[in-house]
Amino acid sequence: MKITLNPNAKDVATRDALVAEGGFGKYYTDHMVICEWTEKDGWAEPSLIPYGPLSLDPATAVFHYGQEIFEGMKAYRQPDGGISLFRPEANARRFAKSAARLALPEMPEALFLETVNALVSRDAGWVPNKVGESLYIRPFMIATEVGLGVRPSNKATYILIATPAGAYFDPSKAVSVWISTEYVRAALGGTGEAKCGGNYAASLVAQKAAAKEGCDQVVWIDAKERKWIEEMGGMNLYFVKGKGACASVITPKLTGTLLPGITRDSILSAAKDLGYKTEEVMLSIDDWREGVASGEITEIFACGTAAVVSPVGQAKSAMGTWVTGDGQPGKITMEIRNHLLAIQHGTTSDNHNWMKKVI
Ligand SMILES: *Cc1c(COP(=O)(O)O)cnc(C)c1O
Repeated sequence: MKITLNPNAKDVATRDALVAEGGFGKYYTDHMVICEWTEKDGWAEPSLIPYGPLSLDPATAVFHYGQEIFEGMKAYRQPDGGISLFRPEANARRFAKSAARLALPEMPEALFLETVNALVSRDAGWVPNKVGESLYIRPFMIATEVGLGVRPSNKATYILIATPAGAYFDPSKAVSVWISTEYVRAALGGTGEAKCGGNYAASLVAQKAAAKEGCDQVVWIDAKERKWIEEMGGMNLYFVKGKGACASVITPKLTGTLLPGITRDSILSAAKDLGYKTEEVMLSIDDWREGVASGEITEIFACGTAAVVSPVGQAKSAMGTWVTGDGQPGKITMEIRNHLLAIQHGTTSDNHNWMKKVI
């Protein structure tokens, strides 16, 4: 890897003050990684360079046809002061799959991991120390062929940036959701399984509609039958049925239109570790409403890298409004959240070998 250090890197006191501010996505670390690909020569050697603006021709493909993919992953400070990544190989594999769907080049897993390790170890001082805090890492790839012809780009640029993420979880608050029957996130054969910016661009109008209904987030249902629960915003969903040791923890099945979340996958194992039954199911809007009404569904939560686990309270839709439990974060939700965070922060044993040491 070519390395050009940032001559204007923040001094330690300034950096520590920015990290201590918390928040998310406001400040970026001193460096970034760039790696160019061309159809002719494949991947070039990556460069670690000072964080800063890009200069691109206005006719660059990504601006016009949205050929772009991204990932989201985290590095956590460990009790010994070291830093570990949570399941980075899973992000590498998903990045390659997203690339294939968007007709972008698949980056070899080893190259992807090399860039992540290089940036995290170089900018290690930006990784916060407290529980619930982390360094959020954003790898992405854009089509960089210049020209307005509609075709898969013969050039692409991979970029890696990172931002400290504070503990913005408010345990007293469950999110409210608007179940959208007007808009669709993904249809079979589309890009629902790929992590691409276009999915998000198409989702924002529904997010606006949810806000207009007084809800924090939008819940997506399937495109074909318009009744199966899929995801919440940019997170996967979980439902808890029953209480105590007999509870089961269920999540919508991956049908080809859901984004296969790494947090979702981890919770299938983590909930089992805690002694709960887990199941991947088809769950309809009616199942949600009736399950809440009968008391069978006791808790609902959403999960994803950024928030890890986020309790869901009130659900609103064209068919009415219903509230899960007492509308407060559930017991099993919090147990699963704390268990995952403990694995990530290295304070409980990592039976699944999820944590990968950087330094
Ligand atoms: C990224 C993402 C998720 C969550 O995936 P994680 O790997 O758990 O972060 C869920 N749904 C959508 C639409 C996403 O883009």
